[in-house]
Amino acid sequence: MNHSKSELIHQEALEHIVGGVNSPSRSYKAVGGGAPVVMAEGKGAYFWDVDGNRYIDYLAAYGPIITGFGHPHIAKAITRAAETGVLFGTPTEHEVTFAKMLKEAIPSLDKVRFTNSGTEAVMTTVRVARAYTGRTKIIKFAGCYHGHFDQVLVAAGSGPATLGSPDSAGVPTNVATEVITVPFNNREQFQLAMDKWGDQIAAILIEPIVGNFGIVEPNQGFLQYVHEVAKEKGALTIHDEVITAFRFHYGAAQDLLGLTPDLTAMGKIIGGGLPIGAYGGRKEVMNTVAPLGPAYQAGTMAGNPASMLAGIACLEVLKQPGVYEKMDHLGAILEKGILEAAEKHGVTITVNRLKGALTIYFTDEKVENYEQAEKSDGEKFGRFFKLMLSKGINLAPSKYEAWFLTTEHTEEDVVETIAAVDYAFSQL
Ligand code: PMP
Repeated sequence: MNHSKSELIHQEALEHIVGGVNSPSRSYKAVGGGAPVVMAEGKGAYFWDVDGNRYIDYLAAYGPIITGFGHPHIAKAITRAAETGVLFGTPTEHEVTFAKMLKEAIPSLDKVRFTNSGTEAVMTTVRVARAYTGRTKIIKFAGCYHGHFDQVLVAAGSGPATLGSPDSAGVPTNVATEVITVPFNNREQFQLAMDKWGDQIAAILIEPIVGNFGIVEPNQGFLQYVHEVAKEKGALTIHDEVITAFRFHYGAAQDLLGLTPDLTAMGKIIGGGLPIGAYGGRKEVMNTVAPLGPAYQAGTMAGNPASMLAGIACLEVLKQPGVYEKMDHLGAILEKGILEAAEKHGVTITVNRLKGALTIYFTDEKVENYEQAEKSDGEKFGRFFKLMLSKGINLAPSKYEAWFLTTEHTEEDVVETIAAVDYAFSQL
């Protein structure tokens, strides 16, 4: 496969854009280096790079592209916004329509607010929880990524973990000391932290189904326990559903798990591919936000008509019957094919899958927390990633990310992908 144009563009990018990328996860640093493939256009489950190579995509732009590229229903919505005004700086009816759709799908949301990114949404939930409780500390789980604001760049997963810098430079120590990190799926450690700091904790920040050290589900009863202890100690629960909202069903992970958080942050899928974030929750807590209350949050672009219309259109597609069942079905075929290929070639892996999302870890251990994910073989993953790319399968360039199926993948795509996995495993 020829990547000469990608390489040239990346060389030029390196001169003008720091690291040649606008988000560190896009670099190939974690998979042995090289120029990242530069994409030209996409349609459905495929995209083509600037050299004309076609790929079946499982990156889904790190989650948002659940309806594939250039979906006609979403394209129509975006065109409408482009033609009728992409930004007014005044309220529009679309914001109300979309807020109502989110509330209908996620019952814990009494009120919502739109932002421009997941980072902003999570950042604001932390501020609101602090304003509401009058406390400052937060608890997060090791390896979970919640965006790039100061307080959560502590033992973060995803990009920072991949780059081996869980604590970012530039984050003041006094900010980091307000954050307590405990291992996911570990009741004892959580209980210890709550015993020690419980009455100072404003909120527990939770990725209810982890997506940032691969797909990791909470053990039976773990999050129920976390919610109970939080309530007992007067701390709020914040669900970071930036990846999980509308990923596994038409709604949030909290409903699959039978949990009612005080606050929820969203992003990615709900923008239909355009920049977005949103947060919402219990009325009394949300009423802390300006202009009703003293916690400030704002945005020139927040709730812009283009993101609203694209998001509404995306949810309309996802609401169609059978959509999630199909992704689950294809995910199951993919998982089976991957496991069979591993067996055939004697490659030791663990696959974590939930419906249309999965992660392959090159390890013989089960993966229930960040420490176990960290131990998986990153060098082997890097070689696997490049072998898959050479067969026209695009994955995230990190051992900590997930493969995402979309509404546009077909059984033929999955069969082609399994053949590529078979080849890659034979070469490892
Ligand atoms: N929370 C989670 C769980 C995420 O996965 C991400 C992004 N990967 C964020 C927050 C931050 O979202 P954004 O990149 O839109 O700022």
